[in-house]
Amino acid sequence: MSKWQIPATGGNMEVNNGIYYQNMTNQDVAERLKKNDVILIPVGSTENHGPSAPYGEDTYLDTRLCEQVAKATCCTVAQPIWYGSHPYHHLGQKGTIIIPEETLADYLVYVFAGFWNAGFRKMIVVNGHGQDYVIPLAIHKFGKKFQVPAIILYTHFWNCAKGELDTKDKGGPYDTPFVHADEVEQSWSLALFPELCKQEYAVKVPSAPMLPKGHINNSAERGDGPIKWYNALGSCGMECICQPQGIIGDASLADAEKARKGVEMTLDYLEKLVNDILERYPAGQLPPTELMTQRDPEAIRAVIAGERHIYTLAY
Ligand SMILES: [Zn+2]
Repeated sequence: MSKWQIPATGGNMEVNNGIYYQNMTNQDVAERLKKNDVILIPVGSTENHGPSAPYGEDTYLDTRLCEQVAKATCCTVAQPIWYGSHPYHHLGQKGTIIIPEETLADYLVYVFAGFWNAGFRKMIVVNGHGQDYVIPLAIHKFGKKFQVPAIILYTHFWNCAKGELDTKDKGGPYDTPFVHADEVEQSWSLALFPELCKQEYAVKVPSAPMLPKGHINNSAERGDGPIKWYNALGSCGMECICQPQGIIGDASLADAEKARKGVEMTLDYLEKLVNDILERYPAGQLPPTELMTQRDPEAIRAVIAGERHIYTLAY
């Protein structure tokens, strides 16, 4: 038995239990920063996931993971970003709220800047949605604009769970490959927020590939092709035409137990990441300034010390 709670329970978002930044006072944060200056930033989406799972699925996948990591490591969690970017083939899918990628990237840049200025200068973006092409852009825009020492890392649970997202023929727990709101994603939902799932309404909806197999990888990058799913246009039909039901795959095959090991691997990894960062750079310490920036040393010293704010460098 692992220490992680599966199925997970929620109820942390409006509670004074030291998990969420937005529920803390400035005094609470000052105390937290003396011990732990890592913040997890869940970035999700509001997206049609069919009749068996809520629109907020990709966000809850993040928050339920982050909450357990915060309990285990005493780091802080930001309230999630609920609206995400979407690839072309999502356009028009009913109920999906689409934010342009440049807007989301810029929004994230200023979220990072705000948390840096608040003293959380070690940030881990936890993404639960297919917007892998946006978050690196945000990280490097922040880096170039502000040029301050910081640690900002991006991880997707897909990349943490690795082989635990594979199909049975590759040693994984699933009968069908991961696409969207399907056997895989619905199993994770049942493991992390079962009270919001309506498994009795789960349906099976076929995918609509438009190219031969062996080229385009699947959602978790665990499939056959060398081309990542988001490095393609014309590889699959639009969801609003081909899968208006909101599911691509077979959600009826979902089972929380299929996701258990992958969820545990993801939680183990995120816990290790937070602890490794703090072991190398204890609270208040940052990667060497002289290796991270050529800005005026006095200006950098003053913003790190909090004598000036980060926006004196750039806005
Ligand atoms: Zn999803």
